[in-house]
Amino acid sequence: AKKNKATKEASTKAEFRQIFPQPLSSFSDLRKTYSISGRVAENLAQQGYQIPTEVQMGSLPLLLQPQLALGKDAARDLATSTEGPQINLLSVAPTGSGKTLAFLIPVVNQAIQRRRKGATDDGHSLDAIIVAPTKELASQIVNEAKKLSLGTGIRVVGMRKGMRVAGTQDDVQESDREQDEDGNDDPHKPGRQQPVTKADILISTPGLLLSSISSREENVHLPTVRTLVLDEADVLLDPLFRDQTFGIWNACTRPELTVTLWSATMGSNIENLASSTIQSRRQRLGLKKEF
Ligand code: ADP
Ligand code: MG
Repeated sequence: AKKNKATKEASTKAEFRQIFPQPLSSFSDLRKTYSISGRVAENLAQQGYQIPTEVQMGSLPLLLQPQLALGKDAARDLATSTEGPQINLLSVAPTGSGKTLAFLIPVVNQAIQRRRKGATDDGHSLDAIIVAPTKELASQIVNEAKKLSLGTGIRVVGMRKGMRVAGTQDDVQESDREQDEDGNDDPHKPGRQQPVTKADILISTPGLLLSSISSREENVHLPTVRTLVLDEADVLLDPLFRDQTFGIWNACTRPELTVTLWSATMGSNIENLASSTIQSRRQRLGLKKEF
């Protein structure tokens, strides 16, 4: 009986570790333990980041080794679950605690990996969408993302009015047009339709993105997007933005989509989403124990 108990405890511990990997104690471990891009690690060091904040310690190991957190099959099950939208990570941490970097590091790193594998002929394919409730916030995220991806070739684009982004419509093949260095098209070029902008990472308010992707009659989808980040998720899920947010979410049709939510407060809107995810996750992983 003693042995049985010990085995049980060990397996609970293993389960626990599977769900909560070791917190990240220093940014240099990103390279050692999680093999993130050397250039991204350099960019972090260059900006003087040394010790991760608490939310970074907790979130980064989960996001950089998603198979630990979820398991590929479980991720697929969750994504196709009939119990409504499923989230992969909910991070609640106070304002100023460094949530931006916590979601940007995995997003940038993943885009680099995808480009290394040459997922598209020109190397750019819309890999991540980051949604934030205000233009100011979106442009802050653009700035941080550009600093983080300096020298990596990753194209970070902030959505602007009227912009057409490759991979958000059915016109990816038209995307061979001139762009300036930042991937911005000149909207004032005479005599032709607004060109298509290529992006690996697109950052937008819900309204701007949705009006761009739903300007076509067809069912719009974002088939290449692997990660959807909702920053200030409490606001994005409140009645004002809710429909737009779910419009974007539903357009992300990849079965293995990773959805992460970031917020300073835990409102009932995100709590409901989280608890339905936790319930079905527990069922699917066959977990009985409450963590
Ligand atoms: P939040 O989104 O959680 O409100 P931000 O991501 O905007 O917070 O970060 C707030 C500030 O903290 C930013 O100026 C950012 O550069 C800084 N910061 C983030 N992570 C770290 C860190 N590990 N060490 C030092 N400063 C950090
Ligand atoms: Mg923030």
